[in-house]
Amino acid sequence: MLLTISTTAPPATDLGFLLHKHPGRVQRFGQSFGEATVFYPEADERRCTAALLLDVDPVALARSRGKGSPDFSLSQYVNDRPYAASSLLAVALADVFRTARAGRCAARPELASTPLPLEIRLPALPCRGGPELAGRLFAPLGWRVTAEPVPLDEGFPEWGDSRYVRLTLDGTVRLADALNHLYVLLPVLDEAKHYWIAPDEIDKLIRAGEGWLRDHPERDLIVRRYMGRRWTMARAALARLAELGDETEEQLEPAVAEDAPPGRTAGDEAAAAEAGAETEEPAAEPAKRKPLNTQRRQAVLETLEELGAVSVIDLGCGQGELVGALLSRPRFARVGGMDVSPMALTIAARKLKLERMPDAKRARLTLFQGALTYTDKRLAGYDAAVLMEVIEHVDPPRLAALERVVFGHAKPAHVLVTTPNVEYNVRYEFLTGLRHADHRFEWTRAEFAAWAEGVAARHGYRVAFRPVGEEDPEVGPPTQMGVFTRD
Ligand code: SAH
Repeated sequence: MLLTISTTAPPATDLGFLLHKHPGRVQRFGQSFGEATVFYPEADERRCTAALLLDVDPVALARSRGKGSPDFSLSQYVNDRPYAASSLLAVALADVFRTARAGRCAARPELASTPLPLEIRLPALPCRGGPELAGRLFAPLGWRVTAEPVPLDEGFPEWGDSRYVRLTLDGTVRLADALNHLYVLLPVLDEAKHYWIAPDEIDKLIRAGEGWLRDHPERDLIVRRYMGRRWTMARAALARLAELGDETEEQLEPAVAEDAPPGRTAGDEAAAAEAGAETEEPAAEPAKRKPLNTQRRQAVLETLEELGAVSVIDLGCGQGELVGALLSRPRFARVGGMDVSPMALTIAARKLKLERMPDAKRARLTLFQGALTYTDKRLAGYDAAVLMEVIEHVDPPRLAALERVVFGHAKPAHVLVTTPNVEYNVRYEFLTGLRHADHRFEWTRAEFAAWAEGVAARHGYRVAFRPVGEEDPEVGPPTQMGVFTRD
C-alpha cells in the first residue's frame, strides 16, 4: 500500500522539514496492523517526493481487532488490505505525519501555513462509486483529479475494471490540509473501516474537516460514509458541523459598529443620557451606521471610480462580494477574482449565480484559484488590484513574496490595500486578541505606513492613506487603506 507526496516548491527538500522526516533516511513506524515506512525516492532542490509504504500483516490486523470483533471469517486473512489504500493508510498517515497534519513546523513555520504545489499519487485506491466519485470529493478542495480505473486483470481486458483507481491529485494546497483531506476521504472512498467506530470519531472528523468540510458540496455523503453508515452518529456529526459558525470578523464588526459608536461604549452613552450631560454629538441623531464590511466595500469602489479604473482584479476575493459589486457597475469592463481557497471560490460562484449569469456579464469576469505568494501571469493586465483584508492572513515572512508578485510582477497602475488598524481594537468591547483567528498580525497605523512606504519605494509607487469607517480621535479608524499609484 503506497502513497507518495511530491512538491516542486524550491527548495523542494523543505518537504522533509514539513513532514518531520529526513529525506536522507528510511524510517519505520510500527502499527498495530503492520509497519509503515517513510522514504524519499527522489529529493533534490527542484522536486522532492516522500513515500509512505504500508505493510499490512493480516494476522496482526485480525488480532488487533480484539475479542469483541464481529468478523471471524477467512476474509480477514485473504483480502485486499495488504495493497489497497484505505482506512489503514489513513490511520498510518495520521500517526506518522501527526505534526504535519496539525499544520505545525518549528523549522519552517511560514511554509506550513502556505499553499504549496503538491502532487499526491495513490496507485491502488478502492473507490466505491467509481472514479468519478473521487473527482466529486477532491475537486472542490482545489485538486486537479485524475482517477484511472485499474483493470481487473491486464491480461484479460474483457473482464473489465476493478473497483480500484490509480489516483493523482495535484494542486496548490497547504500540506496540513492535504493530509486532512486524505485522512477523511480515503476511508470515505473505500467505504469500509477496518476498526470499530467509536464515539470520538465525530470529534476526529470535525477536527480533520476544519475549514473545508462544512461547506463541501458532498458534505452529507462524506459524513455518512465516514461514519460507516451509522446514521445516529452521522446525524450528530452533521448537526455539529452546522453549528460551526463562520467566526468571521464581519460577524464581529457590524454588531459592534452598529451598537457602540467608536470612542464611546453604549454604557457611556446611557450614563451620559441619565446624567443629562451634554454630548459632543450633533443634535441630529446620526443615521444608523452601516456594517464595517459594507463601508469598506464602498470605500474601495469609490476609490476605484475616482482613479478611473476600468479593469480591476480582487486578490483574495473570498466569497466574491466585491466582485459582485464591481460586476453590477458597467464602468468596470473587466473584473478578476482570485483566491487561494477553492471553497471560497465555490461559494463565490454560487453567490454570484455564475451558472445563470447573462453571457455579457459573464464575459467580463475571470474567477480563478491562485496563491498570492507565487508569480502568476494571470494577475497582470488590470488597471487596479485590490487586496481587501488579505495581507493580515499572510505570514509576515511571506509578505516579501506577495509584494514581489503584486508590485513587482503584476504591477497594475493602482493597488488598494486594506487591513485592520489594531489600535482600534480597544473599542471592541468583547474582543480579546486579534479580530480573526486566521490573522497572522494586525498593524498599528505607523506599522502599516512603514510597510506601505517601503513597498512603494522599492517598486516605484506613491502611496496615500485613507481611513475606512468612522475615525476615532484617539485610535483612528477601524480599517486603514493604502492607495498605491505607480509613478
Ligand atoms: N477580500 C475578501 C476576503 C477577505 S478574507 C473580503 O474583504 O471580504 C481573506 C481572504 O484571503 C480569504 O478568502 C483567503 O482565502 C485569502 N487568502 C489568504 N492567503 C492567500 C494567498 N496567499 N493567496 C490568495 N488568497 C489568499
